[in-house]
Amino acid sequence: MNIEKYSFGVGDRFCRQGKAQLQAIIQARQAGVEIVPVWNKSFREHSIIGTNPVDTRREADHAVKQLNWHEGYYVDADHIHLKNVEGFIEASNFFTLDVAEEIAKPAEPQTIQQFIADCKSYLGELRIAGIEESFSISTELLTAIGNKFLSAVQQAGKIYRRITQRKGEDRFVTEVSMDESDLPQTPVELFFILKMLAQQNIPVQTIAPKFTGRFNKGVDYVGDARTFEKEFRDDIAVIRCAVKKFGLPANLKLSVHSGSDKFSIYAPIHRSLKDSGAGVHIKTAGTTWLEEIIGLAEAGGQGLDIAKEIYTQAYDHCEQLCAPYATVIDIDPARLPDPVQVEGWDEQQYTSALRHDPGNPGYNRHFRQLLHVGYKIAAQMGRRYLDAVEKYETVIARNVTENLFERHIKRIFLSPQ
Ligand SMILES: [Zn+2]
Repeated sequence: MNIEKYSFGVGDRFCRQGKAQLQAIIQARQAGVEIVPVWNKSFREHSIIGTNPVDTRREADHAVKQLNWHEGYYVDADHIHLKNVEGFIEASNFFTLDVAEEIAKPAEPQTIQQFIADCKSYLGELRIAGIEESFSISTELLTAIGNKFLSAVQQAGKIYRRITQRKGEDRFVTEVSMDESDLPQTPVELFFILKMLAQQNIPVQTIAPKFTGRFNKGVDYVGDARTFEKEFRDDIAVIRCAVKKFGLPANLKLSVHSGSDKFSIYAPIHRSLKDSGAGVHIKTAGTTWLEEIIGLAEAGGQGLDIAKEIYTQAYDHCEQLCAPYATVIDIDPARLPDPVQVEGWDEQQYTSALRHDPGNPGYNRHFRQLLHVGYKIAAQMGRRYLDAVEKYETVIARNVTENLFERHIKRIFLSPQ
């Protein structure tokens, strides 16, 4: 199973927007760019909401059938570990092996020695086509890289083999992710990580390194977009070289765990893809759930009431909701509007604060981030929330599709303006 050149991760907390999401991918095709959808949902999301991977599978299959989609599509076991992969095996055909936790854990000294021996031919000056500067490779550097990443890659091997034992080889797409770690991985580190992955016989098709800068959930990139672009282009060059040298799958590509809405790096990504001809996987976080609230608020009446209620409760449980996402959000509590004030907002005030339109003076990224992690509140509302989502389906679907197509797909794949 080989994933296509361009793929787009669509996260969907409540598994209700499959059709609206696929509609955006169809619009992309009509506009001339071939993208395939990947429904991604992590163990963390499933456990907070109380859904199972099979729910995501059903949603995807249903959307595909209803909209007559005949191209590829995938269900991603997002950020899984050895301890929780089991529940995803049946329903998923894309597995994101998350080994960030294993970074810098000690590997067996003899396996590190072996790795260094295997890389002997790279000692000295390493040049990679497409990268201006060369890299100086020493035994010390290889030792440092081995100490940092070998245990993580070995762990990826264990998870990969667990999946193949149950599912068989070639029946799924493998991604390896290291993005939820403290430090970014440099292009030269990526080169040797790919070498290790090849030695573990993992047919990795997408790889998610941690890039420079901050990728907070649901809001824009924080960092220097030029530094990002250089790193992104270098990583593309590294992948191209590694595919040839290490015999990795020819369609291996970068996966950007964007956390959604990284508008300021969409143009650099667009340019880099255009110039290199490389493919990419863009993984968004669950901002589709925010479009559900926007739709509810826009609908007014009962919808707006529920949207307000969710905010009030999220505000009251701010600390608890933010805890699992501590490393990927930056909320200043002083900038959160008082729920009493929000209670008095009309449709437009609410949607202006929430919708990610930096040009709108009403936009409030603290409000947006809190609601982004506040989906547990809606999950606790149970039927009442889902009924409202069904009742206002039309206005919600319009927002979901428009967000994915206009604000993301268009800027990354079609025209960055
Ligand atoms: Zn990630």
